[in-house]
Amino acid sequence: MTRSISIFGATGSIGESTFDLILRAGGAEAFRTVALTGSSNVRRLAEMARALRAEIAVTADPARLPELREALAGSGTEAAAGPEAIAEAADRPADWTMSAIVGAAGLVPGMRALRHGRTLALANKESLVTAGPLLLATAKAHGATILPVDSEHSAVFQALTGEDIAAVERVIITASGGPFRDWPLERLRAATVAEAKAHPNWSMGARISIDSASMFNKGLELIETREFFGFDPDMIEAVVHPQSIVHALVGFHDGAIMAHLGPADMRHAIGYALNWPDRAALPVARLDLAQIASLTFQAPDPERFPALRLAREVMRIRGLSGAAFNAAKEIALDNFMAGRIGFLDMAGLVEATLARLSSDTSLGNAATGLEDVLHIDHLARTRAAELAEDMRQNR
Ligand code: NAD
Ligand code: MG
Repeated sequence: MTRSISIFGATGSIGESTFDLILRAGGAEAFRTVALTGSSNVRRLAEMARALRAEIAVTADPARLPELREALAGSGTEAAAGPEAIAEAADRPADWTMSAIVGAAGLVPGMRALRHGRTLALANKESLVTAGPLLLATAKAHGATILPVDSEHSAVFQALTGEDIAAVERVIITASGGPFRDWPLERLRAATVAEAKAHPNWSMGARISIDSASMFNKGLELIETREFFGFDPDMIEAVVHPQSIVHALVGFHDGAIMAHLGPADMRHAIGYALNWPDRAALPVARLDLAQIASLTFQAPDPERFPALRLAREVMRIRGLSGAAFNAAKEIALDNFMAGRIGFLDMAGLVEATLARLSSDTSLGNAATGLEDVLHIDHLARTRAAELAEDMRQNR
């Protein structure tokens, strides 16, 4: 039987890698593609939809619908636009759905797919950070499966296969340290967007690349680990590993540690999720350990990378704090990318937003539904935008 698939965020870095794997596995001959979504790059979206003969292509941007329609003319693929159309595309039955939209915008379509009991390959870590307990409860209630696609979480998932979860003592996720790993605080203050985007090991979207430079990405991933696997925060560690060869390690009660190694190529984690529970041959480079020669590890510096401390705070508070943290981080990132605030101001802004919100609302309250998450997300964005404006004026 032909498997059906959908890719949310098809035109991004993870989306392109997913598309590549689907093509290599036979493309439209081997898979029935239901929905592909993107935002501004509608030409590319239409090209992908034609190649996979998708049922529907959706752009997040309603202003680009005419361009998308034109690019799809005669292809047989429907065109649609806007966030609601993206959510509706997630209602269309598909055996496997890739969630690779960047940011909190990925939450609603992922949740919709889970409500239909689907298998969701989850690259969108923001879903777990903003609404982890809701996401897992929804999956459970509808018999859906969530497969982690973040490289570290795929690595933990693989290291846990066949193991007794009660025997796990610790989980260690690695961080490359990004382009600023060894930069002193003073230099970090003046870091530019171009410098922050230049990740040493991974090729990723601009936003996650900058989040890697600030270690906000690792902060999100600590929370993601806590929410997805349910481990106690004290059991979860992050270690800097500049070579990005070891992605995560799981330590057991008997002192053994299982490590997952692989090249810095997201097609491994995506391919694992695509073929799970089987392993299929994947077009990733094979490691030459003698050539790599050494694998090094160092403790992350909490002073230069305050994002990790803030994330720990969120892991402790839980409730709505993850949604507030992520939303504030997205606004901080927007402002940094627009040249309105400095690199280190991002952490300052997130911290100030959380402080402001915790005096207005109880961030520790559990979300009773998606509305609670979306409400706090909105509130945090509003507060963060006000605080960013103050910061800009006082620069
Ligand atoms: P990207 O910026 O390259 O692509 C993002 C995709 O989302 C694009 O298709 C874009 O059109 C779409 N998009 C952007 N804003 C949208 C909106 N408001 N509504 C609907 N669609 C929107 O991002 P990426 O690097 O591919 O990352 C995607 C997700 O995967 C993120 O959550 C990221 O944290 C996660 N992730 C990425 C990598 C990586 O190597 N790139 C690794 C691990 C996890
Ligand atoms: Mg990762």
